[in-house]
Amino acid sequence: MLEIELQDFPYKTPRIGQVELAKFIAEKLGRDDIIVVAAPTGFGKTISTLYAIKNLIRRGEFERALYVVRTRNELDSFIREARLLEMRFAVLYSGKRMCPLIREVRFTNEVSPEGFWLFCNIMRVHGKCRFYPRLQLFHTQILISTISDYTDHYNIARGLAEKLGVCPYFAMIEALEHVEAFALTYPYIFKESIWRAVLGETGTSHTVLIVDEAHNLLNVGNIMGDTITTKELSKALLEVGELFISRDISSFIKGLAEKVFKAGKELEDRGYKHLDKSELNIDEGLVEKLKDAAFNVMVKAVLNTSKALSTTLPHLASVLELALDESYETFLSRDYHGDLALSVMPSSFKPLKRVLERFPSIVALSATPPSSRFFESIVKVEKKVHVVDVEEWGAKNFLKENTATVIYTNATTSYRSRNPEMFKKYAQLIEAVYNAMSKGILLTVYPSYEVLRAIVSELPDTMNIVVESPQPLSEIVRQVKTFKKAALNIVAGGRLAEGIEVVEKGESLIKVVIVVGVPYPQPDDYAQAIATEINKIGGSSADFFREIALIRVLQAVGRAVRSEEDRAVIVLADNRYVTQPLLPGLGLRPRIITRRIDEIAKFIVQLFKNEDV
Ligand code: SF4
Repeated sequence: MLEIELQDFPYKTPRIGQVELAKFIAEKLGRDDIIVVAAPTGFGKTISTLYAIKNLIRRGEFERALYVVRTRNELDSFIREARLLEMRFAVLYSGKRMCPLIREVRFTNEVSPEGFWLFCNIMRVHGKCRFYPRLQLFHTQILISTISDYTDHYNIARGLAEKLGVCPYFAMIEALEHVEAFALTYPYIFKESIWRAVLGETGTSHTVLIVDEAHNLLNVGNIMGDTITTKELSKALLEVGELFISRDISSFIKGLAEKVFKAGKELEDRGYKHLDKSELNIDEGLVEKLKDAAFNVMVKAVLNTSKALSTTLPHLASVLELALDESYETFLSRDYHGDLALSVMPSSFKPLKRVLERFPSIVALSATPPSSRFFESIVKVEKKVHVVDVEEWGAKNFLKENTATVIYTNATTSYRSRNPEMFKKYAQLIEAVYNAMSKGILLTVYPSYEVLRAIVSELPDTMNIVVESPQPLSEIVRQVKTFKKAALNIVAGGRLAEGIEVVEKGESLIKVVIVVGVPYPQPDDYAQAIATEINKIGGSSADFFREIALIRVLQAVGRAVRSEEDRAVIVLADNRYVTQPLLPGLGLRPRIITRRIDEIAKFIVQLFKNEDV
């Protein structure tokens, strides 16, 4: 058994539970173990976990940890803690963002990762990249010590390129075998083609996988799937036409686009509609030809400096290659702009099981982690699952302690009850809550885009309304911050519900969160495919979807409470919070359960008056 001494912990006054968590991981994490950690945002789970891993590595139990984060911005807290612990570390995120050369070339539009990698390959093979060969001039230790000179991911990449003149991306790959902790973004671990291409040769038999924001594992379609829009398909068709690529490829793409458009006519909303992949006639030979064509297109573009680079074919080849995997199915949906898209997503949990079983040991971290039931009965990963909640050691759960919960029972978004009257009722609730607030942001979270649009269209123009859009997160935050009081409207489980933070001087400006309905996944063909699979393997799809809905609620609530000091009101607006067994899973204790909007408004006015939010 491993011992960790309190005095070694890098914080002089650790939070309650931080040292206990480090000890727990260090003692319990053996081969074939998963430790699932529930700890609120702001608790400091990264430092506790890395501290435990550092001890385990130094005692010879493991060689390194791969610390996988959802977005590159989350790399920075890893960097901060790894530096504090004086660990050898490196970080890897999107190649095209790390590449110093990409700013010097012309891409026609947003380049896909696959397109970028072809570009990089060609630049290296043709000796056109000046950064890559310079890696030979430096010992790996110099790369690692340069990495640790910088405090954020952007400046690490910039520093390597400007100070040493080396390719930051390949410097990280070079460092991988020599560091104790290596942080990287989700696609490197969960997208199998990216894993194979970049890290497939890396030995993992002594590596711990640490999954940050591990609740995302439930959303297996999102983290492991891929999508191509019909706009991209049309562009691919133009590319093959312009470049005289073989007729069978162009007629395949044309046929694919036609099938997608035809099936898309029956697509009513933004849910997923199954498209039988056997009808798409995808085969290995064709994918190989497409890859060759993509390579030739890119070579011509890179070597012909007068022409802008075009990049659609590599992504198409990659999406179709994924569809060849028997655990994946094809679905149609619409993107933010309403454009049709073809998605290839796992229809079972086997691909996730493959990923998790690459590693002997896993630590899954989240404020709202998946249950042990998910790993054991659904993913069926052959590891022993240990679940720990830092509250057990007396750590504060800010979500519970710093929020006042209200349940509004005179509405529901259950499918049978969705109608214009119901949407009006929700709009009245939102308007009344907004008027009751003296300042700050009212965040309203909807179960789908359709419900969002229907309700927001009923809100009066007098409100300062901001709606989820494809704009960068920073731009949306800027927009809401221009108002003293604003109503921000987002979709549960979407990009903003997972990532938005509106903070000023350390204080969250989101003061009230209304959760419209219970955010179960839409009952579309993808949800149906997952339900069928879960029921087939003896799990409960109802429990699984409830778990997703509860995690979405807590994630939405977590947008308002970012630190120990933040206070917020949570309005759960659906009678199912009372009629279904949802509250125990949320752990929120309602202060008021009411059918009356005026009662909720009065309660909020009072809280603002007392400065309790
Ligand atoms: S080797 Fe590095 S610097 Fe050169 S093109 Fe590739 S990513 Fe960019």
